[in-house]
Amino acid sequence: MSDISTQATEDYLKAIYELCADHDRASTGRIADLLGVTPASVTGMLQKLAEDDPPLLHYRKRRGAVLTPAGMEVALRTIRQHRLLERFLHDELGYSWDEVHEEAERLEHAISDELEERLVQLLDDPQHDPHGSPIPRRDLSVPRAATTRLSDLQPGQRGRPSAASTTAIPSCCAVWRAWD
Ligand SMILES: [Zn+2]
Repeated sequence: MSDISTQATEDYLKAIYELCADHDRASTGRIADLLGVTPASVTGMLQKLAEDDPPLLHYRKRRGAVLTPAGMEVALRTIRQHRLLERFLHDELGYSWDEVHEEAERLEHAISDELEERLVQLLDDPQHDPHGSPIPRRDLSVPRAATTRLSDLQPGQRGRPSAASTTAIPSCCAVWRAWD
């Protein structure tokens, strides 16, 4: 990768992955909202990532960004590490499910392949994070989301609506091909 920081790159690619799952493509405005930065800095970053070798995304003014296969790989690896960390924080350290995300956001950029592998062994290769979102597998395929129907929730049991869209591989690659 180029001179762009790994952390910023991972944050952008992850944000675009998530937005693509919901909206087909990630607009500059939505990326700016999600990352809490200005649209102008998003545009600059998207241009750099599009010029990386290999390009991590495709960027068109006014249309936004979609991930290339190389960008998708980075996004899925980051999401895998994030969700493994959430599982670890929840299962091993006793964090509640609503506390794990912030902590995992900070840690996800620092995790080595070795640590990832040890987490997988410790946690018995989990399929889902504490929110029920699927953890991409080692080969980066994505399991189905764990869902409990509202009617199956027990009294006092907490749930949160699951966006079916956060679970599937987004159609970025298809859109990307259409842009080419
Ligand atoms: Zn999270």
